[in-house]
Amino acid sequence: MRTQLMAVVMGALLTLGGTAAAQGAPAAPAQGAPATGKAGAKGPAAAKGKVEVTWWGHAAFIVRTPGGAVIAIDPWLTNPKAPQGVAQPEALDAILVSHGHFDHVGETKALAQKTGAKVFGSFELINLLGLPEAQAVGANAGGTFKVKDATIHLVEAVHSSSYQADPKGASQYAGAPLGFVIAIDNGPTLYHAGDTGAFAGMEIIAAQFKPTVAMLPIGGHFTMGPAEAAQAARLLKVQSIVPMHYGTFPLLQGTPDALRGELKTLRGPAKVLDLEPGKATAL
Ligand SMILES: [Zn+2]
Repeated sequence: MRTQLMAVVMGALLTLGGTAAAQGAPAAPAQGAPATGKAGAKGPAAAKGKVEVTWWGHAAFIVRTPGGAVIAIDPWLTNPKAPQGVAQPEALDAILVSHGHFDHVGETKALAQKTGAKVFGSFELINLLGLPEAQAVGANAGGTFKVKDATIHLVEAVHSSSYQADPKGASQYAGAPLGFVIAIDNGPTLYHAGDTGAFAGMEIIAAQFKPTVAMLPIGGHFTMGPAEAAQAARLLKVQSIVPMHYGTFPLLQGTPDALRGELKTLRGPAKVLDLEPGKATAL
C-alpha cells in the first residue's frame, strides 16, 4: 500500500516537473532527465542522507547531494568574503539565480559555459543572460524541477530584480525575485531565501515543503536584518539557520551573534549555523 502510494506521489512529482519545464523553456529537454553538465558531477557525492553545503561568502553556496547532484546558488564566487585558495567547482548540474543583481548573478555565465549546467531563474532574467537554449530554464514562483536526487521549488521573495549586462549600460527589468527550496530524496530540505524581507508567505513555504535548514540574509539595508530573520525562522519553523548576505560590505551590518540574540528574545528554537566560507559542512 505504502509502495503504491509512493509510486503515485513520484509520478505526480515527475509530471509536475515536466509541466513546469515545458512552460519555462519550451525547447529544453524534459526536466525529469538528469541535468548533467559536461562531465556530470565530478568529485565525491555527499555522505548517505547528508547534504554537503559550502558557503562561498555573501549569498553564494555550493550544495552536493548524496545522489551526486552539484548545485550552485547565487554564484558570486569572487565576492570580498570568498574563500582564498579554494578551487571553484569544475562540474555543476544546476545553477540557481535568485534575481538579477550583480552580487547574485556573479559568475553565472562563465560557470554555465565551463560546466554546461542548466541555469534556473526568473523567465525575464534568464532571457537577459543570453544562455544557450539547452541550458536556459526561465521559470517563476511555483515551478518545480528535478535535478538528480534534488527537487527544486521556486518560491516567492520580497525584493526587486534588475540586471545590468554592461556596467556602463542601463539596468533592465529582470522579473520577480525568487527563493529556492531544495528537497533532497532521503535527506534534508533546504531553503535559500535569496534577497528578501520577512513575509507572510513563509508560512506557506513551511506548510508545503517543511524545510529544516534556512539560508537567510541577515545583513539588513537591502534585506532582512537579524530581528526580521528571527521572525522569519519562526514562520518557517526551521531547526537551523545558515546566516548569509552579511559582512560583505560595510552597509550589511547584521551578525550571527545579533541573530542569536533576537532568537533568544523570541524564544525561537532554531540553531544558528555559522558557516566558514570554503569549508564544506554536512547537514
Ligand atoms: Zn538584491
